[in-house]
Amino acid sequence: MKRVITIAAVLVSLTVPALAQRPQAPAGPLKVTAIKAGRLVDTDAGTVSTNQIILIEGEKIKEVGPNVAIPPGTEVIDLSKMTVLPGLVDAHAHLAMTYKEYPENNIYYLTYVNDSTPLRAIQAASNAMQVLNSGFTVVRDVGNNALYADVALRMAIEQGWIPGPTIIPSGPMIGSTGGQFWPTPEMYKDHNIMYPEYIDADSRDEIVKAVRQNLLFGAKTIKLCVDCKPWGYSVDDMKLVVAEAAKGGAKVEGHCQTHDGVQRSIDAGLHIIAHGRGLDEKQSEQMAQKVIYLASTDTPFTPYRGSENAFKNTVATLKMAWAKGVPVTFSTDMDYWNDRMKKDNGDWMTRGDLTINFLLTWKAAGIAPKDILKAMTINGYKAADIINDRGPIKPGLYADIIAVPGDPLTDIDALRNVQFVMKNGMVYKKDGVMLPEKFFHPGPVKGWNRR
Ligand SMILES: [Zn+2]
Repeated sequence: MKRVITIAAVLVSLTVPALAQRPQAPAGPLKVTAIKAGRLVDTDAGTVSTNQIILIEGEKIKEVGPNVAIPPGTEVIDLSKMTVLPGLVDAHAHLAMTYKEYPENNIYYLTYVNDSTPLRAIQAASNAMQVLNSGFTVVRDVGNNALYADVALRMAIEQGWIPGPTIIPSGPMIGSTGGQFWPTPEMYKDHNIMYPEYIDADSRDEIVKAVRQNLLFGAKTIKLCVDCKPWGYSVDDMKLVVAEAAKGGAKVEGHCQTHDGVQRSIDAGLHIIAHGRGLDEKQSEQMAQKVIYLASTDTPFTPYRGSENAFKNTVATLKMAWAKGVPVTFSTDMDYWNDRMKKDNGDWMTRGDLTINFLLTWKAAGIAPKDILKAMTINGYKAADIINDRGPIKPGLYADIIAVPGDPLTDIDALRNVQFVMKNGMVYKKDGVMLPEKFFHPGPVKGWNRR
């Protein structure tokens, strides 16, 4: 009987907070911080205001303006010689995936066999710190993340275990038989090789179940393999996904590698189209009109990646989509490594350096710095469906703020030199140095129940 009571007590303690208000950490007075911004960029309007004060209370922005009163005892951060702007967004990446030239010849099918979920989750933690260090405060992390390593990463960051951006995880990609793999019959049927890299879902019942399970296990967005196989999803299939995802408050991204797949995704009203290979002018007009975000994953041509021909096509598509008014995001698809990823001085590029280096493609497309900034911020927040919570530097929103010495509105490469990073009101980088000591602690300092 005593055991039954104990179990009942545990169940009550686990379920009641979910039904009622979850218990909060004991509330002390919120820490107040003031940032003195020499130049503050509004990345929506593409304008600058000088000598602004941003007052931050706890995790959120309280006031912004030239004459904000700074209460006594406030910690003041002097960025009066800097350009201050909202944190950046990578709208499509895979932080828990690192496929390599050796041993797997860039075939991530083998990465998945070689690298366990725990190993990949730890890689993800490292990658998250590296991209935060480069000013990325939001990353949409969409599939190919082993067994929900992306969700674990989000939770670890939300709970305060490690520094990192706000992660928008998708859980495993949902696809029709085979996903992006071409397995042998025995690996497919006897060893279930698809899972967890993909969830096979063909019938409408399977599709609904796959979406619900991903939401249950912590996905904040749903990622679909629209046309990874010739028997990919129909417009009706995808409308079902959109409706089911909406019940859990999630939007849907479709991986598209064909013209027809792009069209079906537009007709089904997906929120984001990834890659968009085969995208033409007419489809771009439709995307602009329906406000469907494009994560075109614009790989630059560098000593470590890509070909000149592929780059020309990537640049042409980006340029065309932008000219047609498609809401394009800054997106990378970063998930690989090789031993040529070095700077001129021989130092390794970080995952953050590699991410910001996608500016090469945007510059080649001739897109103006203010428009690139908008793609890296406002369009990213909207694509991530978080714009009412975080992103713009406005009262009431989470304080996700970065600073650079130069002027990114005239020279977008100024973003390569992020000296200051704040997320949720906490300073993660100052004077160009990451501050890891704050994370040497034994528990979920922001609360075990933050998801
Ligand atoms: Zn991808």
